[in-house]
Amino acid sequence: MRKTRSLIFASALWWVIIGSLCQAAEIPLIKVAKANRVQMISANSFGAKDAVFAFKDNSRIFTFKNISMPLGFPVTKRYGKYHIDSSDYKYHIQPLFPTTKHNYKKLKVIALDAGHGGKDNGTTDKWHNLQEKNLTMDVCSRLAKLLEKKGYRVIFTRSRDQKVSLPERTQIANRAGANLFISVHFNSAPSASASGIEVFTLTPSAQASSYQVSSRNIQRSFVGNTFDTLNIVLGYCLQSSLVEKTSAIDRGVKHSTFVVLRDLKCPGILVECGFLSNYEECTKITSSTYRDALAQAIFDGIVKFDDLLSE
Ligand SMILES: [Zn+2]
Repeated sequence: MRKTRSLIFASALWWVIIGSLCQAAEIPLIKVAKANRVQMISANSFGAKDAVFAFKDNSRIFTFKNISMPLGFPVTKRYGKYHIDSSDYKYHIQPLFPTTKHNYKKLKVIALDAGHGGKDNGTTDKWHNLQEKNLTMDVCSRLAKLLEKKGYRVIFTRSRDQKVSLPERTQIANRAGANLFISVHFNSAPSASASGIEVFTLTPSAQASSYQVSSRNIQRSFVGNTFDTLNIVLGYCLQSSLVEKTSAIDRGVKHSTFVVLRDLKCPGILVECGFLSNYEECTKITSSTYRDALAQAIFDGIVKFDDLLSE
């Protein structure tokens, strides 16, 4: 009995510590490590051997298991100790700890959004005459087969070469009661050397997007922000799986207020599967074996995410 009581006390104390971390404005990394029962590895990294969080002074970019992701605010160093903002702990760090429970029902209905369509070709390449709208549909079709084989129900936001507006894509997923939304795209950049894979989640509530300057004056939030912490976990699961399976350059998880993600009533993500403006990457994408690997990687990431859900 005494043992049970002390266990209850220890567990309550632990949650009080975690609760107080979420309220503090800035938290020393050392406290984050202690509250989550992991060791400091250096002044700016902590975790277990196979799950290390590493931070950089005055930077918003941190890595978790070598995948780079942005915080809302830069890490600061004061009196020799590194600190993170409490909202960054809540949105970005705590959800990724392997011990964190995610209260969200197991996935049943998955919405696949093949980017572009109809008159909107998306980006095109200049060597093989590939059109983004066809490639996104191709990858979504391969992915759907894998998901259906596993027992998920798949719905498409477009089933043929047609133009569907961005808000309508979101509404199709919401009306179908989707538990997860995956938007598939291919990338393009003015610089021919840009290559690699990146995934975008909706920017967490009141935080700056990846390409914005961080600010405490940002107050916006959308329906999709209900799933801020799950979006971050989903982003990590997909990006790590894609980088591992394709050996493409890891451009990291990024955050943006893309229209198609704003009003989702479920966790969602936009995947940029590679650059059609880069000759080597574009040539890889012409191969159906490579597009199979892309679909398989997204599938593995979804299953990894589903495994973390509790209900
Ligand atoms: Zn696109």
